[in-house]
Amino acid sequence: MTRGQIANVDLVKQVNSSAVYRLIDSQGPISRVKIAELSHLAPASVTKITRTLLEHGLIREMEHQASTGGRRAISLTTVTRDFHLVSVKLGREELRLALYDLEGNEAGRRTLPFPRRELEPLLTALQREIAGFIREQGHPLRLVALAVVMPGLTDARLGQVIYHPSYPLAGVPLAARLGQALGLPVFIGNDIRAQALAEHYYGASRDCLDSVLVSVHHGVGAGIITEGHIFKSQGRDVAEIGHIRVDPLGDRCHCGNFGCLETMVADAALLRQAGHMLSQGYPSRLDPDRLSMTALCQAALAGDRLAREVLERAAEHLGRALAIMVNLFNPQKVLLSGALCEAERLVFPIVAKSIEYQSLPSFHQGLPLERARFQDDQTIGGLALVKRALLEGELLQLIMEPKS
Ligand SMILES: [Zn+2]
Repeated sequence: MTRGQIANVDLVKQVNSSAVYRLIDSQGPISRVKIAELSHLAPASVTKITRTLLEHGLIREMEHQASTGGRRAISLTTVTRDFHLVSVKLGREELRLALYDLEGNEAGRRTLPFPRRELEPLLTALQREIAGFIREQGHPLRLVALAVVMPGLTDARLGQVIYHPSYPLAGVPLAARLGQALGLPVFIGNDIRAQALAEHYYGASRDCLDSVLVSVHHGVGAGIITEGHIFKSQGRDVAEIGHIRVDPLGDRCHCGNFGCLETMVADAALLRQAGHMLSQGYPSRLDPDRLSMTALCQAALAGDRLAREVLERAAEHLGRALAIMVNLFNPQKVLLSGALCEAERLVFPIVAKSIEYQSLPSFHQGLPLERARFQDDQTIGGLALVKRALLEGELLQLIMEPKS
């Protein structure tokens, strides 16, 4: 066989194994006969693949009474609790590390400040912290992968960072560097896109294949899930809705343009607007020295005019950007994430109205607008990236045939 043919045989093996694993994951307990029927694979192939999956502890057999009565039948189900992964959020001068099992249970967590540094000291410190965290867990783990999520832009396919707001990581093949140092497969991605996938696998958009998540914090970002996959462009990030221009005469954005959505509705922008109005003497119960998103949301809910004005205006702008997303992607569900969800009762109806006025009726009728589930778990996206790698076969193959 030529090298090309060998590569093809491997690819077919990977595609078939992952198809079988996905079926067991989504429909298990399931019998081998049913797997063969649904996957259109030959029964002999199914037997061979399931034997390999069993040998590696990825699935297990369950005996149960057949529905037709008579002899007992064997079904297969995935084993997810035995496998662990470390998820890292490389935030803005902060590092969050978490240990999960593949079922999604959290088994350990640590957060620490992570100051700006030059590239090599930064990578060394990152490797040291991750290795230390793994050691700290104290019990033998079947650790299968490491995931790193971050604000900014990534090329997930190449495992490269394109832009990080706090660290000089542009162009750095972060997945390969960390993988070599730690001896684990590494998956990287933008934090919001990864959160959208986590909501799809484990959270608020579990019940649909097409959804849009919009997150408002330091910036404004979105994650689009189409047919169960993160929408991307050749492995690179898309959906930078924070940089849709909302006000041509607005403030300068860090991207270089003026009046981007982010300059109008990100947390800092709302607090700045409230602070400015307070300094002008607008009556309000807000304390200018203790402004926070929580204080703003609570004041708005309690009827404070100034706080309401600020949040209502933000909700309208946000709704306008969301209407564009709805017109473009016709999702089954829209999720909102961020501190302004604390004023859900006030903010959501305005966002919903704004979507309604500015998108196709057949796209927005009956469209649920919900709060994202993983508002506070900033590392959950890494779990989703690893789960995806398992379901799509890349990680499955590495577990079954570790590279020596
Ligand atoms: Zn911008």
